[in-house]
Amino acid sequence: MKLYNSLTHKTEDFIPNEPGRVSMYTCGPTVYHFAHIGNLRSYIMEDVLEKYLRYTGLEVKRVMNITDVGHLTSDGDTGDDKMLKGAKREHKTVMEIADFYTKAFFADCAKLNIKTPDVVEPATHCIDEFIKVISSLLEKDYAYEAGGNIYFDTSKLDKYYVFGELAEEDLEVGVREGVEEDSNKRNKADFVLWFTKSKFDDQELKWESPWGLGYPGWHIECSCISMKHLGERLDLHCGGIDNQFPHHTNEIAQSEAFLGHKWCNYWFHVHHLNTSDGKMSKSKGEFLTVSLLEEKDYDPLVYRFFCLQSHYRKSLVFSWENLDNAKQAFNKLISRIAALISEKDAAPIDKAAFESIRAGFTAAMDDDINTSNAVTALYDVFKADTNAATKIALIDDYDKVLSLSLTEKARALLDKQEEAKSDIPAEVLELVEQRKAARKEKNFALADELRDKIIALGYTIRETRQGTEISKS
Ligand SMILES: [Zn+2]
Repeated sequence: MKLYNSLTHKTEDFIPNEPGRVSMYTCGPTVYHFAHIGNLRSYIMEDVLEKYLRYTGLEVKRVMNITDVGHLTSDGDTGDDKMLKGAKREHKTVMEIADFYTKAFFADCAKLNIKTPDVVEPATHCIDEFIKVISSLLEKDYAYEAGGNIYFDTSKLDKYYVFGELAEEDLEVGVREGVEEDSNKRNKADFVLWFTKSKFDDQELKWESPWGLGYPGWHIECSCISMKHLGERLDLHCGGIDNQFPHHTNEIAQSEAFLGHKWCNYWFHVHHLNTSDGKMSKSKGEFLTVSLLEEKDYDPLVYRFFCLQSHYRKSLVFSWENLDNAKQAFNKLISRIAALISEKDAAPIDKAAFESIRAGFTAAMDDDINTSNAVTALYDVFKADTNAATKIALIDDYDKVLSLSLTEKARALLDKQEEAKSDIPAEVLELVEQRKAARKEKNFALADELRDKIIALGYTIRETRQGTEISKS
């Protein structure tokens, strides 16, 4: 399988450190608010990646942190503390906020068929690990104490901006947006590992440390939580593209300084979800959440389908109109699968056909998780020269990765249609059957006559892909 690696800017063969096993780390949410669907795009694409790795026979251990301390609004060391902001907004404690929004995040994930990682660890559970790594960085002279805080010294590294050209530009933005300049920092790019002299006097959560009562910076948590559960050599690290700098850049700096060797081989970054007027922000306009989608009568899986229709390394333009198109396409897809299920006869799965058709799907996925082509491969199944049982088996197989609950939804649709039929009087159903027979014999005059009788009894009849639909007029 080929995967684009943000670290090398190349599409490379994915080869885990240990054959057959993958260690995978994902930056989790900062649980101070509901998740924005733009952030959830990253989690959907990471879920597809994880499921495809498993699909190819690899064993995956995936770990995710929950940020419940230390994340400031700027992603750097400036701005407000996000958790504190959430607590003040809702007149609750930080831990109440963390608990509530952690649950809300996983409820959203469940609706989007996103699997929960094998290990989920809140930052506040790992304070001892943070202190251990920070102490070691101080010993090795990669960190320094200034004004009561502990900083990472980026000038000690041969190369700090590991992700290349993007970073410098983003740094400029970071500096411009920075409300206050931290005069304790020796270099502009240095970052806080431990806050003791917090500018937030009302910081609720503080822990004892060798440097006094305080709390950790944001970046240190991912390095420590990853190393705690996945060891010193990580195969794959995922996140949104906005995490590349400063967050992932800082994760690499401190992890490799601590370990003394390379930490993570592959970096997988999912690009932004944008509105047509630029980057979608949580603060501007409507706050797009899974609940809002549901309120507006969109199945959350329609949003998943919408995300799968485009490649994860392309910005995706969100509009209600685009989502409507995805909804229509998704509903049509489910109807077509329902038709296949009704059509299915006793013919068994054709194994040879199954394998040869499936090659189209795996080729798309092997090509840097090209879900857009994988969706095309899914549509190709309908056209394929094989029986219904094989087609249904292929759809179920692809859905192990796509996770759109395809045949499940198709079966629910068929049940609904059956149920609707049970309310129809036997007399009408008999006329419908007679009409079907007349149409089969191409006796259209009789078919029309029967249709008129049905209408006269107060029912409407409609021909669809799944067959004849009858409803009360
Ligand atoms: Zn992280």
